[in-house]
Amino acid sequence: MITCDECDGECCKTIAIDIETPKLKEDFENIRWYLYHKGLSVYIDNEDTWQVEIPFPCEHREKDGSCAIYDKRPPICQTFSVEDCEKNIKEVKVMFKTVKDYDKWLEKNKKFK
Ligand code: SF4
Ligand code: SF4
Repeated sequence: MITCDECDGECCKTIAIDIETPKLKEDFENIRWYLYHKGLSVYIDNEDTWQVEIPFPCEHREKDGSCAIYDKRPPICQTFSVEDCEKNIKEVKVMFKTVKDYDKWLEKNKKFK
């Protein structure tokens, strides 16, 4: 397992937010719209939760990857588990980095016509 001492503070470079599992055509179209935004990714994790990953670094992340407000960091940072972080959970079910990836997956999985 990679420890935080060996890492560049990857978890402080992005925001990952759970989104509702798409069911209707409109939901799938909305996800295509997310992917029109450069740098943003959408993925389905190993528990089948859909997530949007937004590449915005936290303003408190120092150049060396440490946290400038470590003692006062928010609860979400305090409870974040290194065992579950992106460095240690390498596999996600599906990752969409581009609209092309996404459209191929929709076609293959016949999500809507
Ligand atoms: S929790 Fe994971 S991503 Fe964050 S600094 Fe530690 S090893 Fe890196
Ligand atoms: S507050 Fe600190 S630990 Fe939390 S995301 Fe920002 S830099 Fe990382």
